[in-house]
Amino acid sequence: MRSHLLNGTNAERYRRTVTEGVERVAAKIAATDRPFTGITADALAPRIESIDLDRPLGDTTAVLDELEEVYLRDAVYFHHPRYLAHLNCPVVIPAVLGEAVLSAVNSSLDTWDQSAGGTLIERKLVDWTTARIGLGPAADGVFTSGGSQSNLQALLLAREEAKTDSLEKLRIFASEVSHFSVKKSAQLLGLGQDAVISIPVDHDKRMRTVALARELERCAQDGLVPMAVVATAGTTDFGSIDPLPEIAEVCEQYGTWMHVDAAYGCGLLASVKYRDRIDGIEHADSVTVDYHKSFFQPVSSSAVLVKDAATLRHATYHAEYLNPRRMVQERIPNQVDKSLQTTRRFDALKLWMTLRTMGADSIGQLFDEVCDLAVRGWELLAADPRYDVVVEPSLSTLVFRYIPAAVTDPAEIDRANLYARKALFASGDAVVAGTKVSGRHYLKFTLLNPETTVDDMAAVLDLIAAHAEQYLGESVVRAS
Ligand SMILES: *Cc1c(COP(=O)(O)O)cnc(C)c1O
Repeated sequence: MRSHLLNGTNAERYRRTVTEGVERVAAKIAATDRPFTGITADALAPRIESIDLDRPLGDTTAVLDELEEVYLRDAVYFHHPRYLAHLNCPVVIPAVLGEAVLSAVNSSLDTWDQSAGGTLIERKLVDWTTARIGLGPAADGVFTSGGSQSNLQALLLAREEAKTDSLEKLRIFASEVSHFSVKKSAQLLGLGQDAVISIPVDHDKRMRTVALARELERCAQDGLVPMAVVATAGTTDFGSIDPLPEIAEVCEQYGTWMHVDAAYGCGLLASVKYRDRIDGIEHADSVTVDYHKSFFQPVSSSAVLVKDAATLRHATYHAEYLNPRRMVQERIPNQVDKSLQTTRRFDALKLWMTLRTMGADSIGQLFDEVCDLAVRGWELLAADPRYDVVVEPSLSTLVFRYIPAAVTDPAEIDRANLYARKALFASGDAVVAGTKVSGRHYLKFTLLNPETTVDDMAAVLDLIAAHAEQYLGESVVRAS
């Protein structure tokens, strides 16, 4: 059994085994003609349930054969140009190479004595990101598991910086279309049920700054404490970017922590063409970025950045076995003092490999391409009488709804759109997402694949229309 341990003796087996796995995935990716097979959980479950985990197959070729049946054949493939659903990007090859290296070497980025150069590489990427944001010379940050964790950590720091004797008094302000992890974080941080004040958005789904100022004023008058304003740079549903400079001014006026959730919009940090859309982000006290959303990185790759490195101390605890205080005096660098995690992946390596191979401009150009594609998609939808489209895109999402010519009942239109999304998923021809706008069901394209074309979008819109019409046809039969 020791022959499976990755060590000097078994280096050749490692090479052979991983190569075999890479060959399989490469063949699979070359052969997939649809983003999904359309299999149901009920159909797939028995194949997985019937496997006896206490009876190993022994050799990896057999395991890969089995994996074909239980996973690879029916996985949802984000690299396919007709995967248009969630904030999952196709990944760049240098980052996948980084992934292979980091899991084989298996550094853990908590302490220097578990990572050495890894710690410094992560720090350099944190500095690179804070410089791109413009957070100034005292900035710092740390890689996290994702945007949700980054938001949680940022709000933890904001809570500790807030001046109050009672958590019940703290309030967080975020737009009505901000990410749900803001509310989840408030809950985890022990704030009251009503801690998150929802600020209305304008026609373009951007936070109304006037409403924000009004709520902050009310908060002060009620003797409550404004803990943080969360501005979203790229909302999950609409890609809308809150007016960052105006929000920064209001935060300044009320002495409130400004957090910018740029989990999605961070792609613009690498863009030459559209960087100005997130101007004002430099005023933030903390920023969330998800490289795994708009830097074409594999899951997970994310970071939380702060303007003032000293605020990260709120995440610092010392353990004799790991990071005793004397290490600080000895100036031995570690990242665990800044992180909510202890053992932590060297995700930064993927971004390192990407920047060293392709450079930031190339990543920015790929993101620009999907932003431009979204504009083409918007034009397509706006000109198509079958569809109602919600907002002109600031990033790369499109939210729309099929409007049948002959039906006026909004509930029936809801059902037709829900049906179309499900039927499309079951066909495997394309994958789209859905959301609600003003209580009604809409469909969503999240465009993150530069390989997707206008023709792909047009073809998927035709498919959706056909599924919706099929539903409505059957529903007429049902009613009669
Ligand atoms: C996706 C997203 C998050 C959560 O990020 P995860 O990496 O999925 O945890 C937070 N905020 C916004 C705006 C997002 O789009």
